[in-house]
Amino acid sequence: MKCWPQIADLLGRHGITFVLLADHEVPIGDQVRRFLNEHGPQEIDVIVGIGGDGTHSMVIQQLVAWVDADPGRCLPPYAFIPLGTANDIAKSLGFHVGSTFSERDLERAVSTVGHGADYRMDLGMVNGTLFADGFTIGLDPNILRERNVQKKRLHGLRFLFRGIIGGNLLYTICTGLRFWRQPQRQVDVSVDGHRWYAGPMINLIINNMRVYAGEFEFHPAAYANDGLLDIVLFTGQKDYLRSYLLALRQYPRRLRRLAKHLNRNLQHTQGRRFAVRLSHPESAQIDGEEFPESDFFDVSVRPAIVPVKIPAEPL
Ligand SMILES: [Mg+2]
Repeated sequence: MKCWPQIADLLGRHGITFVLLADHEVPIGDQVRRFLNEHGPQEIDVIVGIGGDGTHSMVIQQLVAWVDADPGRCLPPYAFIPLGTANDIAKSLGFHVGSTFSERDLERAVSTVGHGADYRMDLGMVNGTLFADGFTIGLDPNILRERNVQKKRLHGLRFLFRGIIGGNLLYTICTGLRFWRQPQRQVDVSVDGHRWYAGPMINLIINNMRVYAGEFEFHPAAYANDGLLDIVLFTGQKDYLRSYLLALRQYPRRLRRLAKHLNRNLQHTQGRRFAVRLSHPESAQIDGEEFPESDFFDVSVRPAIVPVKIPAEPL
């Protein structure tokens, strides 16, 4: 809401008229669905989400639920104003988001609302729940869980840590606490009906978008409109550290080629349907939120289900 006056001003300058849905008492997805039911999609040219991956994911899930309720319905395109921490979805779709959101980045995102290119985004689905960004089992969800616990525990002391808690330091502390304690699980993964991997794992990612956790790209040819999801599996702590270091997005181009070569043994493939069986129930997360732990995950893709607007103007 702090950025809203600036966004409203930019929308006005682009000649875009709008209705703002920002009732703090009602989940954002419910507000969008109610608006669609009351006004119908023909009155709406585009639905714009303002926030991080969690916000976009929540709205997109509700939009798909709205279409699924009546397959005759037609969805207006969805546009992104990325104002989160990781911004995986926006970065994967060609938005530029720096460590601080610059006026130029904001202007480009707003111009995409009116003049963006049409793109049809796939979504993933795990045990019946949709995801836009990605799904992870193992170490990363355990770090997320630990961080959420510590955040709650330290809430009373937040005046001491203002600016630090919730930021990188807490993340680093939780990573350190959790990292070496993560047990290796035996996992059996089949992709499109064929066994792809059987053996130890500490972390497993199934991604719809190319960018993971704001900083990493495990495969350069991961697209959110190819009807395929990308799976990356990490066998142990050493493999995890090496692979993450080599997958950093910030390397200059020449170094990235070398990094890709060094990371050639990465357990990665693409597919439409994945069955993941674990020796023990394990924590999971979807789109940055905790997901119920289980020893079996059925993951599939819903191709080209969401019409979205992506930046067409040069950076
Ligand atoms: Mg894909």
